[in-house]
Amino acid sequence: MQQRSDGRQITGQKTMTQKHFLSSIIDETLHALQDLAEKGSRGFDCSEHSLSVLNSWKRTTDDCRQTTDICHPPSATVPEPPELTTTSAPCESVDSSASASADSLESIQTDIGDCRRCKLAQHRTRIVFGEGSPSARLMFVGEAPGFDEDQQGKPFVGKAGQLLSRIIQAIDLTREQVYICNVIKCRPPGNRNPEPDEILACSPFLNRQIASIQPEFICALGTFAAQALLKTTQPISMLRGHFHDYNGIRLLPTFHPSYLLRSPDKKREVWEDMKLLMNEMTP
Ligand code: URA
Repeated sequence: MQQRSDGRQITGQKTMTQKHFLSSIIDETLHALQDLAEKGSRGFDCSEHSLSVLNSWKRTTDDCRQTTDICHPPSATVPEPPELTTTSAPCESVDSSASASADSLESIQTDIGDCRRCKLAQHRTRIVFGEGSPSARLMFVGEAPGFDEDQQGKPFVGKAGQLLSRIIQAIDLTREQVYICNVIKCRPPGNRNPEPDEILACSPFLNRQIASIQPEFICALGTFAAQALLKTTQPISMLRGHFHDYNGIRLLPTFHPSYLLRSPDKKREVWEDMKLLMNEMTP
């Protein structure tokens, strides 16, 4: 058992894994490319000179972080990504504070800014970033804001949100103790399903929120969140009822509260899922 800097205890399996580390590098790369695209770049300069500049940056990073080549990630015997375990002095020229994989929620929100990365920006009233405890053990991830969320800028505040609040209460937690957000941060017009380009633009922010909070558990609400996080096309009815792995975090899909409002007989299955979650969360 290890102790996190925030005092929470974690097991080896629940720490950020090597896979998570690589995934966060991919997220950051995607994010950087999107930033470049927004600044008008339409190509990537891979001239010999530029590559040698990049290589020299990487060497500086490696020296400071005492890590291995980015193309040859740390061996399986290294339990933690280097930026979480290093005891060496902070690097001056390269940020070694693990910010690439674990920014604060505030800085992620600042990066989103008045987002125009996808076409949903034209229709939304407010960006719905997410809310709750930045050190939550449990994160709920829904699909996308609806009408009420778009008006208030807060996740799950409409009818489905009230049901989610009751589900959270039923597992002896409060909304303040968990973290609640969505895969997509802006309301799709008419509450239609999010489209692939919208998911591509928005999912790096969800991944960064998860990396920041490092919850032990994620409850994916509904088909869309479960499929997006698990990168699968399996139906929610197959995915729910057991835990999956999301970068070393235990992810439990369950039915979306909006679906429960339409099909109240499915509440029984959600309650079964919540009991599973409670059992696993109880120390
Ligand atoms: N449905 C969602 O998926 N998210 C919300 O925030 C509200 C309704």
